[in-house]
Amino acid sequence: MVEENMRRKLIVGNWKMHGSTDQISQLLEEIESGSERLLEDIEICVCPTYLHLGLAFDLLASKSGAGRGQIKLGAQNVHVEPAGAFTGEVSAQMLAEYGVSYVIVGHSERRQFFAESDQFIAEKFRAAQACRLTPILCVGESLDQRQDNETERVVLNQLDAVIAAAGIAAMKEAVIAYEPVWAIGTGETATPAQAQQVHRTLREHLDRLDSVIAKAIRIIYGGSVNAANAKELFSQPDVDGGLVGGASLEAEEFISICKSTD
Ligand code: PEP
Repeated sequence: MVEENMRRKLIVGNWKMHGSTDQISQLLEEIESGSERLLEDIEICVCPTYLHLGLAFDLLASKSGAGRGQIKLGAQNVHVEPAGAFTGEVSAQMLAEYGVSYVIVGHSERRQFFAESDQFIAEKFRAAQACRLTPILCVGESLDQRQDNETERVVLNQLDAVIAAAGIAAMKEAVIAYEPVWAIGTGETATPAQAQQVHRTLREHLDRLDSVIAKAIRIIYGGSVNAANAKELFSQPDVDGGLVGGASLEAEEFISICKSTD
């Protein structure tokens, strides 16, 4: 059994393909001022589009005071190669230059709409880590798979594909996001018990490979998290925070989700 330990909670806002320059500036300003005290206890990360990363970087840099915790920046995607003729793509090195700390890999929207395979996702995971970016590896089952009792097999296969390519030691500098596909953007959330069960399965699987990593790694939940359901989800022993889509586009709602980590 894996014991609960003092993993620092992490809340990530995935802004997807949303926002104008003005909206992003305002949203970030509001999240920044509303979350100042929270940053002593938890980590907060926002993932704007590639195009808005520079704006967010400048805005956060202008706010940072000495010794003060800062909102982290994340990217929604990364290319596997460091440079080259890959029209429309952005490398991990380029993201690192913009102060990016985290990169989402394996999001179900990319698996589904951009046909990203487990192997390609594993390459992205490795490319991110090669530039000292922390990958947030998303795993999750479809509704059919859940109904066929395939949840465990699906999420462990998705995790194992990365471990096979990168090695178990690579999980030391990574975050896992359990995101049931049927809960993303649908308003339907996994119950706290359902989330806990999958998070526990993932952690126990890692525990069989490396018990230190299993205890330390953060496994966050994503799928229609909002201010009303966050507290119960985050109070589960193996749920170390959340990956938040729609609700992260409203500053007040997002801050309230961040506060639900108490
Ligand atoms: C997501 O995109 O990762 C997500 C969880 O979205 P939502 O919170 O809108 O379900």
